Amino acid sequence: MLPFKLIYSDDYYLPIGAHVFPAEKYRRIRDRLLELGVASAEDFVVPEPASDPDILLVHTPQYVEKLKTGTLSPREEMELEIPYSPELVRAFWLAAGGSILAAQHALKDGVAISIGGGFHHAFPDHGEGFCMIHDVAVAIRRMQRDGKIRTAMTVDCDVHHGDGTAAIFGGVRVPSEPLPSATPATLDPARAGKTRNAHAGDVFTISLHQENNYPPVKPPSSIDVDLPDGIGDDDYLGWLDNALSSGLRQFAPDLLCYIAGADPYREDQLGGLALTIEGLKKRDELVFRVARARGIPVMVTFAGGYARRVEDTVTIHTNTIVAAKEVFAGK
Ligand SMILES: [Zn+2]
Repeated sequence: MLPFKLIYSDDYYLPIGAHVFPAEKYRRIRDRLLELGVASAEDFVVPEPASDPDILLVHTPQYVEKLKTGTLSPREEMELEIPYSPELVRAFWLAAGGSILAAQHALKDGVAISIGGGFHHAFPDHGEGFCMIHDVAVAIRRMQRDGKIRTAMTVDCDVHHGDGTAAIFGGVRVPSEPLPSATPATLDPARAGKTRNAHAGDVFTISLHQENNYPPVKPPSSIDVDLPDGIGDDDYLGWLDNALSSGLRQFAPDLLCYIAGADPYREDQLGGLALTIEGLKKRDELVFRVARARGIPVMVTFAGGYARRVEDTVTIHTNTIVAAKEVFAGK
């Protein structure tokens, strides 16, 4: 039995038809975990959908009303890039409920993983890029409202910038200054990324992403690491290590929300970085080791993953659970 819970429902499936987003990945990850014996049936907990008041902790009443009544404008539906349906609305409410449950279990066990969620392109008043509701932000605001946490840190390792997260938790930009030792020693200066820094409120946001990629407008996170195209494992891990150390020097979170996108993978159809499957697992281990060493509870969501072979996306996400097991079972 795992020393932590996996949050999962068959209804995480997004009813979006044939789409670059492989909505069946959630069920396949669950199946793979059971097949490999990484997890057993009692490790899984089934979430309830978030309540409307939970969703309204982040999203505007106008937007929620449009979603519930099917009255998005054609432009709003286009920006979402997934076809609207009432079933899809239910799936996103459930994803938010799953993230709330993951946050609750993380506070109890030190870590919890929702085999879903990570919809970091959702804004308070609209959705974008396959993201209707910002499940992670809903979970953070709900934990704060319940008095379970005061502060949180998001660590977004999806290949795409966490624009919704940045907008919701709104850092105020300060003039860009490089972080101390901002360039990892392993990094060829010609391929250096750029680090941008902004003040944080009660939620500190970190985003490591490919600069030349969606979204075109990237509102400031507390720390943005704008990576050049084609970055591989060692450079990426160096940047991540730096961003985590720098963030945790500046801010003490009560909860770390790790958005473990599978799309920095070199075979990803929507990504332009060059991480290997092994490198992505090292990334997960690094986040877990840092959190565990500092006693910060971690909740994990999965976000994007568009590998040419869905099999690879499933492997990358499954490895996140394997990494958590290795780090958190080793007492
Ligand atoms: Zn992504």
